[in-house]
Amino acid sequence: MEKYDLLKDQLIHEGLIEVSDIIVPTVISEEAILRCHNGEYLQKLQEGRLSRNEERQSGFPWSLSLIKRERIIMEGTRLCGRIAAKGHVAMNIAGGTHHAHAAHAEGFCLLNDLVIAAHDLLALGLERILIVDLDVHQGNGTARMTEDDPRVFSFSMHGASNYPLRKAQSNLDVALPDGTGDGVYLHRLAQSLDEVMSHFLPEVVLYQCGVDVLDSDRLGHLSLTLDGCARRDKMVFDACRTADIGILCAMGGGYSENVSTIVRAHTNTFRMARDCWT
Ligand SMILES: [Zn+2]
Repeated sequence: MEKYDLLKDQLIHEGLIEVSDIIVPTVISEEAILRCHNGEYLQKLQEGRLSRNEERQSGFPWSLSLIKRERIIMEGTRLCGRIAAKGHVAMNIAGGTHHAHAAHAEGFCLLNDLVIAAHDLLALGLERILIVDLDVHQGNGTARMTEDDPRVFSFSMHGASNYPLRKAQSNLDVALPDGTGDGVYLHRLAQSLDEVMSHFLPEVVLYQCGVDVLDSDRLGHLSLTLDGCARRDKMVFDACRTADIGILCAMGGGYSENVSTIVRAHTNTFRMARDCWT
């Protein structure tokens, strides 16, 4: 949890953002959540009525402050989506809760911010939204929540042996073996992005840019270097610049032993975004 504060401080320290660039969200409305989440589930979640099994599956002990925090994160990503839809880049310093399903919590994800943001934009009239999920874990909740909607394309590139054991089916899945490394990873990403961008022609990209792809990560097994991870982000940003569309970034996972490595990797994402948009 400490990475979020450290990241904000580091971004300011390095001059990548100004304090005036920061938007502090309030809690998201229920209406925005209910565009894609189950009403009964939301009620149970808010009132602390999850079964012991459901609570364990969420990964968190339930508390009111946990729910408030989650709703603030959701609003952050939703607001970023609005900015991205205007052709800009906007980054949520948290978020990327891609394991949350319509009616259950999973893997430290209670609500799915990327899908909520997608539905917010669909309600505005957008018709082709691309979710690019490069966290080392498959975006199973995102895949399931968007599978019946042709207006949202889910692309997940992840470690084949990583959680979840049983994968959902995204519109495009690229499952990579342990120890993949920079060269093969970036090659596969370039190919897949090319294919998706040219066939789906998205109006906006929602990017889950988890840094648990690093070789230093305790949970991921894909063995990317810090430089490779930064080049990954740049590749996604370059694709958006070429297509002249905006992008929302939600930070996703990062579990390197040394928190400064995690912060460096996330800071690189912001640096790549700044370089691409200035
Ligand atoms: Zn992850």
